[in-house]
Amino acid sequence: MKKTVSLILTLVMLASFSPCMAEPSAVPDAGVPVLMYHSISSKYDRSFCVPAQQFDSEMRYLREHDYHSVSPAELYAALTDGTPLPENPVLITFDDGFGDNYKTAWPILKKYGFRATFFIVTNEVGDYSIDWPQLRELADAGNTIGSHTVHHRDLSTLSPGQQKSEIFDSKATLEKQLDIPITTFCIPYGKYNKTTLTLLREAGYTISFTTTEGRVCAGDDIFTLHRVHMIGGTSLESFSSMVSGREKSAK
Ligand SMILES: [Zn+2]
Repeated sequence: MKKTVSLILTLVMLASFSPCMAEPSAVPDAGVPVLMYHSISSKYDRSFCVPAQQFDSEMRYLREHDYHSVSPAELYAALTDGTPLPENPVLITFDDGFGDNYKTAWPILKKYGFRATFFIVTNEVGDYSIDWPQLRELADAGNTIGSHTVHHRDLSTLSPGQQKSEIFDSKATLEKQLDIPITTFCIPYGKYNKTTLTLLREAGYTISFTTTEGRVCAGDDIFTLHRVHMIGGTSLESFSSMVSGREKSAK
């Protein structure tokens, strides 16, 4: 009897570690962590900057624990068609097109055999940000480039016409410059309204991410997917909990 009770308790505890509680599907019960990075540097005294050494430790942790980086296209196929994902899937994303994404993050990603997704604000490409030749190289190497609008404005405050230009024009610019289809979008500040979601579909995006903390689970709305916030100063122990979904990042 005692054994049965402790078995039930163990099962209940295990179940509580699965934030999605979904029916069987291609997406693991614990959900898929979509890591949201910005700058990989200690240049700015801001929490969204993850120092290179910390980023290297985090990528090494993922490699040593047999995580596999997946693309938005693979996540889309898993969510819509039930196409299986590799074991321990993780989607690594970078917002805003910081120059250090290419100079610092990319060599580290390559070293551990990972690919990532870079969300680009098209009006800011070049100068201090990532530039077009760097983006072409990233795309050629199997990374995904997504739109993060033209000007990084809060879409929920814009008129439908202004939103349309942010959503459509950024896609057209990326496609012209990189000569690849752009189907992934990231909503600035995670702020949107009904018009935003309609326009994203009309423009031909298939998948879109917000800044809402959480993991991606079977049955989630494919245009408002959640991500796990990566910040500077996170210990490897916390990072491990965040990617496994056993703490913090659980919805
Ligand atoms: Zn952003």
